[in-house]
Amino acid sequence: MAKLYFRYGAMNSGKSTNLLQAAFNYEEREQQVLLMKPRIDTKGDTDIVSRLGVRRAVDFVVGAEEDLWEVFARERRKIEDRTGKAVSCLLVDEAQFLTESQVDDLLRIAIIDNIPVLAYGIRTDFQTVAFPGSRRLLEISHSLEELKTICRCGKKAVFNTRQVDGEFVFDGEQVAIEDGVEIVYESLCGNCYLQESGGVFNRTRRVLTESLATAYNSAPDPDFS
Ligand SMILES: [Zn+2]
Repeated sequence: MAKLYFRYGAMNSGKSTNLLQAAFNYEEREQQVLLMKPRIDTKGDTDIVSRLGVRRAVDFVVGAEEDLWEVFARERRKIEDRTGKAVSCLLVDEAQFLTESQVDDLLRIAIIDNIPVLAYGIRTDFQTVAFPGSRRLLEISHSLEELKTICRCGKKAVFNTRQVDGEFVFDGEQVAIEDGVEIVYESLCGNCYLQESGGVFNRTRRVLTESLATAYNSAPDPDFS
């Protein structure tokens, strides 16, 4: 039985480089691979870009509303008809943006189609909360492997921080839209993250919890009203 592998890491931990290297290793052995990623914007960006300078177009993208297993079967047939070679591996970039049911499809591809799936993604967002696709991958993958990168202080970086126009921000949407502002991300260790965030790991969740507590405290007790 083939397996579903999740290789996760903070931003800039070499995920795309690792993916492109894995594809190269298969192809060097005359094996056929398929590369895919989720469609996350309308810009039509269909390249996998390694920071080391290697770039390669994916074979297909999948929208959030699409049945990944079905799309994969179609693309697999297409490439097998064209090349006469069976697909040996599916490689997934930006897997954090898949839906939960699409990650379930990746497991079906591994178990039922018997094709290994290597999924690469960021574990958590800039508020230290798991992306839906990553959460599901952490739940059901056969194999978890962390890709490591270094914080500015030299420790291992595990969290991602967001800067808008040069300022660290700890509130906002999980996926930021660059709307006339410059957004950059920096991977930090836990210590440096807390220094920048003022000691908070997840501001939105804390605000929600506090407003919930306020709501409970201010609600009239039905026994005494
Ligand atoms: Zn640090």
